[in-house]
Order: sequence, then C-alpha cells, then structure tokens
Amino acid sequence: MDTGNYKAIVDEIKPYGARLVAISKTKPIEVVLEMYNQGQRIFGENRVQELLPKYNSLPQDIEWHLVGHLQSNKIKQIAPFISMIESVDSVMLLEEINKQAQRSDRVINCLLQIFIAEEKTKFGLSENELNSLLESKIFTDLKHIRICGLMGMATNTPDQQKIENEFKHLHQLFARIKKDYFADKPYFKELSIGMSSDYKIALNCGATLIRLGSLIFGER
Ligand SMILES: *Cc1c(COP(=O)(O)O)cnc(C)c1O
Repeated sequence: MDTGNYKAIVDEIKPYGARLVAISKTKPIEVVLEMYNQGQRIFGENRVQELLPKYNSLPQDIEWHLVGHLQSNKIKQIAPFISMIESVDSVMLLEEINKQAQRSDRVINCLLQIFIAEEKTKFGLSENELNSLLESKIFTDLKHIRICGLMGMATNTPDQQKIENEFKHLHQLFARIKKDYFADKPYFKELSIGMSSDYKIALNCGATLIRLGSLIFGER
C-alpha cells in the first residue's frame, strides 16, 4: 500500500471540508487495518458478503458505509452496525431498512443514489423517481431511517467537462431538495460524489464525501 499517497490525499481534501470514504472492496483485512492505523476511520464496501467478515475482524470504531446495490434480504445482516447506506434506490429498500433498523433499535443514515451517468448499467433513482419518492412523503413516517443526502456516480469517461456537468447537476438537485424537503433537517447535508478518477472535479462541485478505492489502496 502506498501510504504516502493516502496522506497526501487526506491533506488535499481537508481544505474542502469533505470526508474520505476508503473503499476497501477486494482488499484483505491486513491492508484495511494498515490504513486504519494511518488514521482512517470511514470505510466502504459494495457487497454485504465481503463487509460482514471485515466488520467482524476489524476495530469496532470503524464507520462502515455500504456503497453498492443492496438486496433487501441482506439488510438484516448489516442493520445492527452499518453507519451509512449510500446506495438506496427504492422506496421498498427504505421501508425494509426502516424495519430492520427498528429491530436493532437504531436509526440508520441513508443516502439516495441518483442516476446521473450516461451508462445504462449504473444503479440509482431517476429524477422522476426521486420526485415521486419525496412527494409520497413516506420517508417522514419512517422513524428508523434518516435521509442524509444524495450519492451519485458520473459517467466513466475521459471527458472532464461531461463529468463536471453531471456533478454540478447533482449538486443543484441536492440544493433544491434540501430547500423543498429538508430545510429544517441539518443532517441532510451529504453529497457523495467522486471516485479515484474524478474526485478533484467532485471536490470543486460540492462533494462532502468522496469514495476512493484504487487511488489509495492500489489497483484492484
Ligand atoms: C469501487 C467503488 C468506488 C471506488 O472506486 P475507485 O475507482 O477504485 O476509487 C466508489 N464508489 C463505488 C460505489 C464503488 O463501487
């Protein structure tokens, strides 16, 4: 692991006030622990099967984020400890997270994942789906979830302008939703955008969480 790179990136993002989510998928426990010992506390995984053994063998003060597509039957296993689910893309998922959080006597932080990219393969709510979710006001009845903001992934392209447009668009959407639905909710403040290839653009487009894997851990 290139820890020099890690330190440099932590310093780089500090002035922006953003937080780093270290995406540790495919990386062994020893490597995650090494980064923990460098001071990193927020880690992200995209698969529940991989998250569980890491959660069980790593220090308990790690804040785990789930960043990948989540099947509702897996929520039960992570509800007792997950710090944030960044990849919520349906009302059904919100309801199931609420149910399992209630069983664990917890309130689970969630981000709504919005589809902003050009690719057909990426998960997330369309803007229409987001609007109808928010208009349904279902989330106001779910006492065991807290919607803390939005997450998105830009198109995988070398076209920097296109990435910037997608991030700016999501930032505007975030601002509108904050104003219209969460104006009195200080916890609605997170914009999770930016990965290894585009985090610099994301930092300039209002990112509060950036999700870095390969840049800090090396290629997968
Ligand atoms: C893997 C992954 C990342 C990190 O990707 P890198 O390009 O390795 O930084 C970020 N977000 C999500 C949702 C991921 O699945």
